[in-house]
Amino acid sequence: MADTGIAATYHAPKEPFDLREYPVPDPKPGAAVIKISMANVCGSDLHYWRGDIDIKKMGRPTPMALGHEGTGTIAKLGAGVGADALGAPLREGDRVVFQYFYPCMQCPTCLKGHTYACPVRQTDRAGSSDEWPHFRGTFAEYYYLSPKHALFKTPDALTDDQVAGINCALSQVISGLDRAGLSFGETVAIQGAGGLGVYAAGVAKARGASKVIGIDGVDERLDLIKDFGADDVVDIREYDTPDARVQAVRDLTDGVGTDVTLELVGHPGVVREGLDMTAPGGRYLEIGNINVGWDTQFDPSVIVFKSITVVGVAHYTAADLGNALRFMEDNVDRLPFHRVLSHHFPLSQIDRAMEEQDKGYITRAALIPGS
Ligand SMILES: [Zn+2]
Ligand SMILES: [Zn+2]
Repeated sequence: MADTGIAATYHAPKEPFDLREYPVPDPKPGAAVIKISMANVCGSDLHYWRGDIDIKKMGRPTPMALGHEGTGTIAKLGAGVGADALGAPLREGDRVVFQYFYPCMQCPTCLKGHTYACPVRQTDRAGSSDEWPHFRGTFAEYYYLSPKHALFKTPDALTDDQVAGINCALSQVISGLDRAGLSFGETVAIQGAGGLGVYAAGVAKARGASKVIGIDGVDERLDLIKDFGADDVVDIREYDTPDARVQAVRDLTDGVGTDVTLELVGHPGVVREGLDMTAPGGRYLEIGNINVGWDTQFDPSVIVFKSITVVGVAHYTAADLGNALRFMEDNVDRLPFHRVLSHHFPLSQIDRAMEEQDKGYITRAALIPGS
């Protein structure tokens, strides 16, 4: 194995990434080093790249690592890491998927079982790339998995193209629909048919949703969400006002609205219409709005009088990641997982990948290190 590796480091919005070479760290006991084979551009990476998220205000040091969704092989195992989360023995070279954040398992939040909300789960990823262990993001040749990580061996039947989206997008919507308690026969609206949206359609149908409605304005995305099982789509180019979209969803649900609505657009302006298209007694899953400081104004009485439950989902549990892997294995012949990654770029072309995905026609771009 090489002694050093390249990491694409982020400095400021729209500035070119700086490809820096760092020594590959030796993992501490309980840790592991992954050799990244594929890293996807998630919507949250784009928010950083555009400058929607102000890292200076957040006190994040630069150079900063970006990238969290991806897959790879075991490069180095720390002492005490001999098996994956299900007990399968691990060796160097094994393909794995991994939880990229680290719940402490000891704080009051973790002890209540809310490991997805552990306040320190991302602390190890927040340091400067120039400081050990350097590889804090997946836009790099390596990724350092701190102790208390969870990882699973990747079944041979699944390709990197298929599994690369498992550890963020797919696990996230599985966790969200689970926490929202989506049950058999219910209806679902999905605001935004990007990577999370198309997965959400597949997962919702597998949970027995009687009707799934995808809302977007890009042909490729609308086609893909239908292929993931959406029964109907609402094209925002045609239904170009919030009222028109709410009415369209009500018309498709016997005038009632959807039992579960997912916000996967990442803009606060869509929340009000999302609540309006949700049925009385329904649940609103808020996943996309990660831009701290972006406000919206709406009348919260809609939540009160319709008794809507709002569920926030930033991360998922280790069990959700295992369920995501199992779901993909069971449905790989039925759902077009391989089409979620619509474009591939070498890691050295990360700037181009960001620019192209920002144009909106790409469902998700993948970066390939070492190319
Ligand atoms: Zn993500
Ligand atoms: Zn904790």
